[in-house]
Amino acid sequence: MRFLLWITIFTLLLYGDAHIFVYHRFDDPKRASANTSIDQLKAQFDHFQQNGYKVIPLSQLADALHNHRPIDPKWVVLTIDDSYRSFYDKAFELFKSYGYPFTLFVYVEATQSRYRDYMTWQQLKEAAAYGEIALHSYAHPHLISLDAEAIAQDTRKAIELFTKAMGHSPAYYAYPYGEYSSDVLENIQSHGFKLILNQNNGAVNETSNPYNLDRIALTREVDLTSKLKIQHLAAEWIEPQTYPKDALLKSIHAKISPSIEHIEYYISGYGWEPAPVQSGEVKISLVRPLKHARSRIFIRSGFCYSSTIIAKE
Ligand SMILES: [Zn+2]
Repeated sequence: MRFLLWITIFTLLLYGDAHIFVYHRFDDPKRASANTSIDQLKAQFDHFQQNGYKVIPLSQLADALHNHRPIDPKWVVLTIDDSYRSFYDKAFELFKSYGYPFTLFVYVEATQSRYRDYMTWQQLKEAAAYGEIALHSYAHPHLISLDAEAIAQDTRKAIELFTKAMGHSPAYYAYPYGEYSSDVLENIQSHGFKLILNQNNGAVNETSNPYNLDRIALTREVDLTSKLKIQHLAAEWIEPQTYPKDALLKSIHAKISPSIEHIEYYISGYGWEPAPVQSGEVKISLVRPLKHARSRIFIRSGFCYSSTIIAKE
């Protein structure tokens, strides 16, 4: 038994999981928190190239997940949210010269209304020859603050305009601000997307939920090597589900594999702390004032991470 456990751990360490990365703006230092410089981007692409990583289209990962085929730990998927103009002006050439596919998630209202900072439908069609174009909502709302009908309306409007302009319906959806709850997830899923992507630091393996895929942000100065070490921790989150009205987090509860004996937890704005774990359950009672209107709660075992997000309505 112990031997098998070590084999499992060794295999996990050796192989790791696939990673989906998310970018926003390129060479736009005025928006530092969302920016990636072209020098950084080039260094990241060189790292992928020199270390045997395979940058694949999101559709290839979707096929593997839905058909229960193995996920290659060397797979990397590159996504870009908001379809800012800086992708087209600054980064597009570099993606083309490395032959790296990408998925652009379109903020439909910005493109439809020709907001200055965003790509046009024509530019998106041009990009579609080298990558995939997908959906990032119509009005880029805080979905958590909307009722079910308003979420459905935003999504329907986005799908309709997208389909008219691009000539096909969008297959993938990424949440605005990475914010969602189980209700939001169910609502978005009902529109028939093949994959739904969040923005929680995490990796992807065969046990990942195609409708709740983690993505790692590669903005600001980021240590790519440490991000590539991140693996997927299969966890079922029971609490928290919503942002507490008094902004006090009182319980963290998740189910994990019973073979895991050591877990640490993290709440946005606080450090990592050891968590009690017993027979596959992480259960923490606490009274912790939440420091951010959008707070993430992580649990990890070694390099394996799982997280959930709660946001103030
Ligand atoms: Zn966005």
